[in-house]
Amino acid sequence: MSFVFRCEIVPVVKTQFESLPLSPALLGVIRELAYTQPTPIQAASIPTLVAGHDLIGQSKTGSGKTAAFALSILQRVSLPLREVQALVLCPTRELSAQVTREFRTLGRKHPGFTVAEFVGGQPGKSQRDALARGTHVVVGTPGRVLDHLQKGSLTTNAIVTVVLDEADRMLDMGFGPDVETILNRLPKSRQTVLFSATIPKSIAIICKAHMQTPVRVRIDEPEEARLEIRQLRLDTRPDEKFHALCWLLSKFPHNSALIFCNLKQTVIELTDKLESAGLSVGRLDGGLEQFHRDQILARFRNQSVRLLVATDVAGRGIDVEGLDLVINYEFPRQTDIYVHRIGRTGRAGRAGVAISLSGHNDKERIREIESNTGVAIEVLEQGPVNLSEVGPLLRALARPCSMQTILISGGRKDKVRAGDILGALTGDAGGISGSNVGIIEIQDKLSYVAVARPASRLAVQRLNDGRIKGKRFRATLVEGQKLDDAQAQAEARKKKSTNRRSPRSR
Ligand code: AMP
Repeated sequence: MSFVFRCEIVPVVKTQFESLPLSPALLGVIRELAYTQPTPIQAASIPTLVAGHDLIGQSKTGSGKTAAFALSILQRVSLPLREVQALVLCPTRELSAQVTREFRTLGRKHPGFTVAEFVGGQPGKSQRDALARGTHVVVGTPGRVLDHLQKGSLTTNAIVTVVLDEADRMLDMGFGPDVETILNRLPKSRQTVLFSATIPKSIAIICKAHMQTPVRVRIDEPEEARLEIRQLRLDTRPDEKFHALCWLLSKFPHNSALIFCNLKQTVIELTDKLESAGLSVGRLDGGLEQFHRDQILARFRNQSVRLLVATDVAGRGIDVEGLDLVINYEFPRQTDIYVHRIGRTGRAGRAGVAISLSGHNDKERIREIESNTGVAIEVLEQGPVNLSEVGPLLRALARPCSMQTILISGGRKDKVRAGDILGALTGDAGGISGSNVGIIEIQDKLSYVAVARPASRLAVQRLNDGRIKGKRFRATLVEGQKLDDAQAQAEARKKKSTNRRSPRSR
């Protein structure tokens, strides 16, 4: 494809965070997060972004691109001006949630900094309220952002930066017209930033129409970076797939494994099978309410569920520390989907393994992937398969996770912070040792805390008997993906204010 637009390409250089144009507050947060060195995309793009130039960043997921644009936006934001100054468009709700989280983390030393998430399936009213209170950054999916623009609740006059994140995916999902309309409504003098794994013609057209002499940053990854994800495949007949999966799960030790399927129906069937065999498993697909998607992701992130079976769209924004194994139960239909799936593991320099179950019909696609990525996928030999052996394999895999999740019916809107929950559990009233408390995740109206299994029932009791920030909240143990009382209550609270569901969930 030879579609040419004028741009300048910057060389990729090794550098330190201290030599980037970032404030002491941002450098402080980076130190706290123990990011020792900028990733190549950060080193190459932050100076250009902070200088206010347009930028096309070609880099894969896992490259640290979110921090690249979030740090640059935070560097430029004016805190006293309580108007939207940056708009970030993402293809999915999950990615929006991940980007919003990253803004909150990186902006935690910016007093009064606020970021709002605008996605379908969440109440339009609370989004309008956030705008009325004054928010600096809006992150969202194009459909919902456009709704707010058309209704006039989102004003654009203070917007200085727009970011199109995972732009190729956004166009693949049919958001092209919405993105165009949004770009046309923004101030002409703004900075336009686009990140994309690939730059097909459709993206080049957007760049040409909406950008001014963009700087193009492209990371040609060194050989060793590519090797951080070991890619394997196992040839299997369709009737041997489930057995092969069990064999892979036992052969490749993992704390967290993500299993991708092409279809929602396969996700449901496979999850049922694994769950009935007693494995720690959850499902993530477009058929679930947003509440359940958020919940299963929180449990997967805090390691109280070990396996997650997902479709591509639902699994897109998954960013889990320590995800060591990705399995393609169904071989992906396109190269870029393959690249995105395997990019869920081996994040930011950590090692990971990606294994695909492949069949006779996948030969052509494998060749295409190998030639597009320049990496040969290693073939795994399983030897003769004995279908009757699946029982012992499953029994060996059916061990419970060491952590369990507790759902608490209060969140950010109730002024609950992680320290308050930790305090309630470990303080005089709680009496639980801090070493038994895992990841705490605060959402708008509820929170999740991971607690070591032996201490979890006591933790629930203590949380229900005690108070957090002087208020009583309901705490329940989350087991499986089925609803219990407190979950149903929390869901009802969320639903009450929900306007409509996004039509684009898959
Ligand atoms: P992304 O490509 O934006 O999805 O980022 C991938 C992961 O890398 C995220 O979990 C980030 O928190 C993490 N990350 C971003 N920048 C750095 C860095 N400089 N050093 C280590 N980890 C990073």
